[in-house]
Amino acid sequence: MNFTSTSTSTCILVTGGAGYIGSHVVKALGEAGYRVVTYDNLSTGHPWAVLYGDLVVADLADREKLRDVFNHYKPKAVMHFAAHVVVPESVRNPLKYYRNNTVNAVNLLETCLEFGVESFIFSSTAAVYGEPQEIPIDEGAPLEPINPYGQSKVLVEKILADCTRAYPFRYVSLRYFNVAGADVQGRIGQVSPGPTHLITRALKTALGQIDRLEIYGTDYPTPDGTCIRDYIHVDDLAHAHTLALEYLLSGGDSRVYNCGYGHGYSVREVVDKAKEVMGIDFPVVESGRREGDPPALVADSSRIREELHWQPQYDDLAYIIKTAWEWEKALQRRRKA
Ligand code: UDP
Repeated sequence: MNFTSTSTSTCILVTGGAGYIGSHVVKALGEAGYRVVTYDNLSTGHPWAVLYGDLVVADLADREKLRDVFNHYKPKAVMHFAAHVVVPESVRNPLKYYRNNTVNAVNLLETCLEFGVESFIFSSTAAVYGEPQEIPIDEGAPLEPINPYGQSKVLVEKILADCTRAYPFRYVSLRYFNVAGADVQGRIGQVSPGPTHLITRALKTALGQIDRLEIYGTDYPTPDGTCIRDYIHVDDLAHAHTLALEYLLSGGDSRVYNCGYGHGYSVREVVDKAKEVMGIDFPVVESGRREGDPPALVADSSRIREELHWQPQYDDLAYIIKTAWEWEKALQRRRKA
């Protein structure tokens, strides 16, 4: 292990900091003056995505390595992003999800307790709600996940709540809605070999990497028949994390917050906006529903706005798509180079 940081400022350990959301949070932490150490096994992350601090390439299953890192860096808080996130894969291979997302979270929590780390930020998801009965969804809605991915995250939330009752320990769990967009300077963004997300697939269709974009289902009980989602820019989400961190470090109690803008767009609206932003009329076809897609997922985000004073800066679908588009083009250039 190569430990190079010498800064004496507050150190934050970020698991999964080389991945899409984690790398944007590492950037935000670095910009805010924190000392950062990323712990990532690089299964889906990339070393170049870690713009600040040190990178330790290791797995959360490796308890000894975790202890070494805690011992060396003495983090004041942990932010936990490292997880598998592909819903259909979780249905085919649930144990992979329970081991990596749930069991490895327990390893991390035990290490936190062993080293006296009391502040923990957890990367959760709107998938914990399953198919919500009411829109917008507030944090008190029932947790009824409909796939092992969502269940693996619910289990960790329950474990976290139990830990607060048993140990000197506090956490913030952030439930993400549809995260999209990229660093405005084009340094980092989403990289997925088999993308499933709507905006990424639209951009790749425009670049000719996918033949045509399929709209999965046009018979939903929504105004235009396609599903509605709450798309949030990754840098606004990253800012929610630094606010949650400040809150915990200043002694705040455990909280759960939805992270979304509080309004949604249909698949058709996203497709139209993507065509407009890119100036490319890419091929689109209507097809059947994708299994497990709820008709609408929109956050009630009033709690995080009121309690942490979170004020999104990029609540603009065109901006989200534009930053994602610049990133996709940069990725394509990088691949050709
Ligand atoms: N979707 C679509 N075509 C695609 C990818 C996604 O119609 O190629 C739809 C999907 O059915 C859902 C919405 O777009 O209604 C958002 O899907 P995404 O996978 O981006 O995020 P999710 O909400 O599933 O996390």
